[in-house]
Amino acid sequence: MAEIELDQASLEWDTHLFRTARAQFEQALPHAAVGEAAAERLRFPERATMVSVPVRLDDDRWVMFPAYRVQHSSVLGPTKGGIRYDPHVSLGECAALAMWMTWKCALLRLPYGGAKGGVRCNPRELSPGELQRLTRRYTAEMMPVIGPQEDIPAPDMATDEQTMAWMMDTYSMQKGYAVPEVVTGKPISIGGSVFRAEATGAGVVMVIERACERLGKTLDGQRCVVQGFGKVGAVAAQELVARGAKVVAVSDVSGAAYARDGLDLEAVEEWVVLHRHDLVEYPGAEGCSNEEMLELPCDVLVLAALEEQLTGENAPRIQAEMVAEGANGPTTLEGDAVLAERGIPVLPDILTNAGGVTVSYFEWVQDLGRLFWSREETRVRLREKMSDAFDRVWELADEVGLSLRSAALVAGIREVAGALGARGIYP
Ligand code: NAD
Repeated sequence: MAEIELDQASLEWDTHLFRTARAQFEQALPHAAVGEAAAERLRFPERATMVSVPVRLDDDRWVMFPAYRVQHSSVLGPTKGGIRYDPHVSLGECAALAMWMTWKCALLRLPYGGAKGGVRCNPRELSPGELQRLTRRYTAEMMPVIGPQEDIPAPDMATDEQTMAWMMDTYSMQKGYAVPEVVTGKPISIGGSVFRAEATGAGVVMVIERACERLGKTLDGQRCVVQGFGKVGAVAAQELVARGAKVVAVSDVSGAAYARDGLDLEAVEEWVVLHRHDLVEYPGAEGCSNEEMLELPCDVLVLAALEEQLTGENAPRIQAEMVAEGANGPTTLEGDAVLAERGIPVLPDILTNAGGVTVSYFEWVQDLGRLFWSREETRVRLREKMSDAFDRVWELADEVGLSLRSAALVAGIREVAGALGARGIYP
């Protein structure tokens, strides 16, 4: 493409996290055989929407919440990605996460591009009524850019089945008929898929298990640390224990609970239900900070909380034999380089946490067909998809001498670039 001087630094999504996503793209490009025009197109999100959401609080005050939806690429189909409620949500964060979603969907060979959205708020300070009003107004603001053939939201940090039910209802009320296929991760009673709630955490463990096999180990007896005890982390911890592994520490926003001989996860679950986010106070274990927990000696460190947790600063002190990224972007570029130098394999986010979007795809297909599958059928199909992607990534990494992260990105980028090459850039 022609060189035209633009002030790239002033672009609104140009934040630290977006630069990380873009730097990973640049690192993968030389191995992905992408033409310069396609590469330049894919460096930018296709569309970024920012709105402000007015919400009447329970005490009758009005508060405006900034909110976003970024759609990175619609080359392969409608865009897909979560909605998060978090005090740090920004356009740049959504743009980075949308780009990763594009590579993830393509790597799994799902007919989707990537998107991400969110509302900048502190969900822990909002009542269920306030969250409902926030969700409904956010959905109404985003009506022009979402839809079953355009962009299909799903849950992410601090959003859940209930959030998706409110989104589906708001969208359907505007249309005048039920449109279950506009969101995924819904309750089963309105068209959700069985096994969607467990899919991301279960997929994380499918990938860890496959990596153990390739490395000549079994999951049985592995000592695991899990950061984040939410929708992804709690299920991953349970699945690890169900396969004979020992979970020695789990954490949430308050800190970590650590028991050298393994935690009783059922008791931890009960504590979390009763005390919401207060794991550090769990009486059956030692409490420690999230920072200390990341540095505990273990076989597998599962990151299932948020981005930028392993950095150039703490990566030299990590004592895990393997890192599995359940969260999106939990390792910085500097952290990644240190782990690579130390020979600690990192199972990358776009592969490891892809179980969620894969079963979301199954949910959308079932909704469109108005025909629903059993739990076992869904689990078997997920395992097939995850194993196929894992094997392609492992073999590419071996063949080209790349890290697993670069191989996953290269595999995803090749799929998108191939499609973009065939379609061409309009007009
Ligand atoms: P969640 O809100 O259910 O859980 C997040 C967990 O992280 C909670 O236990 C929370 O207390 C903890 N946490 C929050 N801030 C923290 C902090 N500063 N330090 C330590 N822990 C903190 O969210 P989730 O859906 O489980 O998502 C977790 C990660 O997985 C996110 O990066 C998300 O993008 C990614 N992910 C989620 C899905 C999905 O299907 N839910 C799919 C793919 C990727």
